[in-house]
Amino acid sequence: IESRHRLRVSWMAPYACQRRTPLLHSNQPLTEVLETLAEEASFSGSEGRSLAFTRAASVLKALPGRLSALEELGPLPGIGEHSRRVIQDVLEDGVSVEVERVKLSERYRTMKLFTRIFGVGVRTASRWYQEGLRTLVDLQERNTKLTRQQQAGLRHYEDLNTPVERGEAEFIGQMVQEAVQRFLPGASVTLAGGFRRGKPHGHDIDLLLTHPEAGREAGLLSRAVCLSPDQGLILYQHSQENSFTLHESPEAPGGRDLLDRFERCFSIFRLEVRGGPGAARGWKAVRVDLVVAPVSQFPFALLGWTGSRHFERELRRFAGHERKMVLNSHTLYDTRRNLFLPAASEEEIFQHLGLEYVPPAQRNA
Ligand code: ATP
Ligand code: MN
Ligand code: MN
Repeated sequence: IESRHRLRVSWMAPYACQRRTPLLHSNQPLTEVLETLAEEASFSGSEGRSLAFTRAASVLKALPGRLSALEELGPLPGIGEHSRRVIQDVLEDGVSVEVERVKLSERYRTMKLFTRIFGVGVRTASRWYQEGLRTLVDLQERNTKLTRQQQAGLRHYEDLNTPVERGEAEFIGQMVQEAVQRFLPGASVTLAGGFRRGKPHGHDIDLLLTHPEAGREAGLLSRAVCLSPDQGLILYQHSQENSFTLHESPEAPGGRDLLDRFERCFSIFRLEVRGGPGAARGWKAVRVDLVVAPVSQFPFALLGWTGSRHFERELRRFAGHERKMVLNSHTLYDTRRNLFLPAASEEEIFQHLGLEYVPPAQRNA
């Protein structure tokens, strides 16, 4: 008689930033359906419901093994009634009827199509759906008003929805590094985002720039990359100047805390390729996010731009609720002692928060 190994999970730390979440885990089919429901909820503007599904998926990603029955889970934090029902359906029948219905629904499919356009968020996609638009061709034929960003997104739709490989990310990182060095010797370029967490591919390339001498980094992006005379390299870009000042009071936790105010540039690069999609043309369009951080804020920027998005959200929630601190991509502020807590590394930020250090590869919450 085969005795199957069973999980028994009676406890899990309540915040994702207190857990280790590897990239590969044993419950992919379950997290996939929960994330589909999270996406569908956000498409309907139900952020709370979306977050609940995201939380449940995140808990499953941190389990030490494959779940085969709901009873193996104790009353864990973050898995609500609805999520449990969906998990049970998938464990018993291999599918969730609810999720299958969502995936087939015209609204979900259209929203997915539209939000995959660079520059199109849920609100715009939703408005287009309400106006009866259903396809990319509809957008063009009905002369839908598009921003410059959305026009670029539409023009490069296929390329931008083809995953970026790690090798391509490293290559572009190298290219930017060389461009930046020419203008400012000593400046560094760090690959952040999903690639830093160990993902083999991603939807874009997140690069963080800094210089060891405070102040030298100012204006670096516009000078070195985004206004580069090498026009053929950049197919699209829009920049933002640094608007951060230390003298303002830090924003309340839970506010617009995922936005930061660094000098940065959201762009589309033209990458020469030999194989894969775009091979016939010899190039493909790739999304690149460039962010410049002063060295004193670099560890906060690195932590903030490494993700995952859910890990970041949880870090900030933990800081606010458990420590009465405000964490963002610029600083950490202690509201009890009324002071900023400087840090020279990510490790020090975790220390300030009284959290065990979680390396990037374990932040795939
Ligand atoms: P993917 O492979 O899909 O790119 P990713 O984890 O790199 O996965 P991104 O959307 O590139 O996802 O985001 C990377 C990190 O940068 C996230 O942790 C997010 O918090 C941060 N980030 C993204 N956009 C912004 C923004 N506009 N302002 C501040 N931080 C952002
Ligand atoms: Mn990314
Ligand atoms: Mn990005």
